[in-house]
Amino acid sequence: MEKRYFNPKIELLPREELGALQLKKLKKIINKVYKRVPHYRKKFEEAGVKPSHLKTLEDIRHFPFTTKEDLFVDYPFGLLAEPLEKVVRLHTSSGTTGKPKALFFSRKDVMAQAELIARSLVMSGATSGDILQNSMTYGLFTGALVMHYGAELLGMLVIPAGPGNTERQIELMRTFGTTCIHMTPSYALYVASLIQEKGLKPGKDLKLKRAYLGAEPYTEETRRKIEEMLKVDVFNCYGLSEMGGPGVGFECPVKEGLHLWEDAFLVEIVNPENGEPVKPGEVGELVLTSLNREAMPLIRYRTRDLTRFIPEPCSCGRTHVRIARILGRADDMFIVRGVNIFPQQIEGVLMGIKGVAQNYQIILEGYDEMTVKVEIDRDFFDGRIERLLKLKEEITEKLRQAIQVRPKVELVEPGTLPVSEGKAKRVIDKRTL
Ligand SMILES: [Zn+2]
Repeated sequence: MEKRYFNPKIELLPREELGALQLKKLKKIINKVYKRVPHYRKKFEEAGVKPSHLKTLEDIRHFPFTTKEDLFVDYPFGLLAEPLEKVVRLHTSSGTTGKPKALFFSRKDVMAQAELIARSLVMSGATSGDILQNSMTYGLFTGALVMHYGAELLGMLVIPAGPGNTERQIELMRTFGTTCIHMTPSYALYVASLIQEKGLKPGKDLKLKRAYLGAEPYTEETRRKIEEMLKVDVFNCYGLSEMGGPGVGFECPVKEGLHLWEDAFLVEIVNPENGEPVKPGEVGELVLTSLNREAMPLIRYRTRDLTRFIPEPCSCGRTHVRIARILGRADDMFIVRGVNIFPQQIEGVLMGIKGVAQNYQIILEGYDEMTVKVEIDRDFFDGRIERLLKLKEEITEKLRQAIQVRPKVELVEPGTLPVSEGKAKRVIDKRTL
């Protein structure tokens, strides 16, 4: 029989009991880092707090935040709360600082995260009979391996495909009857376009049912496009390597936000400017404390990801809090004519439009003027001006709907815009305000 919950006792735990469980775990973890991690002890002392000050969950506000800079103190082992003998896995997360963040996991940590994935997959309707093609990058990045362990725990057959070689991806799907895929939304779009190009009918030639998309923000429009092209049900998943990778938050079939597993994380949303909690439903920065982590607990970690709580209880019955899809990174936000905009919002729109190639750039100049330069497929430059103007109008209008500002759009040939290595510089701000 199909299971509706992987761990019903925890997933349906009444909020009061969930809070009591969190407090018990939080006290334990605060005590542990105070005793075992000199950097935490020093930070607590500087803030004038001791583990004994933590009497309620709200008291967490008196404890200092952990930022990505803290991960580079006594690098790479500085935040370990267990001896190395207990550590079984390293993952890294690339940052802008050059050195990657080093994140360590004990066997218990690996299995705990696998359970969060298994719960999330069951929540989406998956069973042990499903076949998961895992097309995230295997290696130092958490995306693929963590999903892999969780899917195996549920009993799915996992195809460790990794990304790229799209011809082979499609061949694997056909040969083994893949029912679920895990990949980035932009790659899913690419795979879908190749499937279409080959004349394959997803509902007939492929057995795909669900797509788990994460690792980069995307819009509802992109979701609908992928659902339509691949004939799948798309589930939004959220995670970050610092919090163990994917499985931190996952959509249930109601698809009104992502449940965050609160027996594993204490969830706060704060104003990114002053660190104060925002009002329920207001947008702010997601701050997470790992409640289960053994090897490297992180206390009040500033994710830099912006979202908001969805305060209403969910009709799926799970009591764990929901957040809205990630709106973007606090660091990437810019303001045009009083509107907060994220490059990801623009990317989400562009990547959902047929004819748009991979690269784009946002230029801000003069008195709050915004120009979006977009590389489009070469065959649009065949002299048919009307077709080109139509595409330009489509892009302009869709961007206006998404960001509430009407930008100037310039269409350019592929290869025109600078290609940067690593993190792309998408926004050039030349304003003289
Ligand atoms: Zn739900």
